[in-house]
Amino acid sequence: MNGSPACPPACPRCRFGEILAVLRLPRTWTNASGRPVRGLGEVLLCARCDAGDPLVTYFAVHATARPEHAALLARLLRQWAARARPEGPDEDALRAEAEAWRRGEL
Ligand SMILES: [Zn+2]
Repeated sequence: MNGSPACPPACPRCRFGEILAVLRLPRTWTNASGRPVRGLGEVLLCARCDAGDPLVTYFAVHATARPEHAALLARLLRQWAARARPEGPDEDALRAEAEAWRRGEL
């Protein structure tokens, strides 16, 4: 690891996993002064944190999206997007950490 900018973006949760997909969802939250703020919530699909996701399994097997798998990939992406929630990134991080613990990676 040399910190080269040519490296693929690393996951902000585990700092190691490769980001396979990014979902940007409109999101409203309340800032520190109690006012609603609108923005985009990002949901990242990490090869490491989301190792159990069928989409991650696909990329683990095939390395890259293949045109002949377009229908399958579309389905997996839709399923992932349906599960993905931008609210509660801390909860995601906690869950990822708990899963890493369970797998004995920490
Ligand atoms: Zn990660």
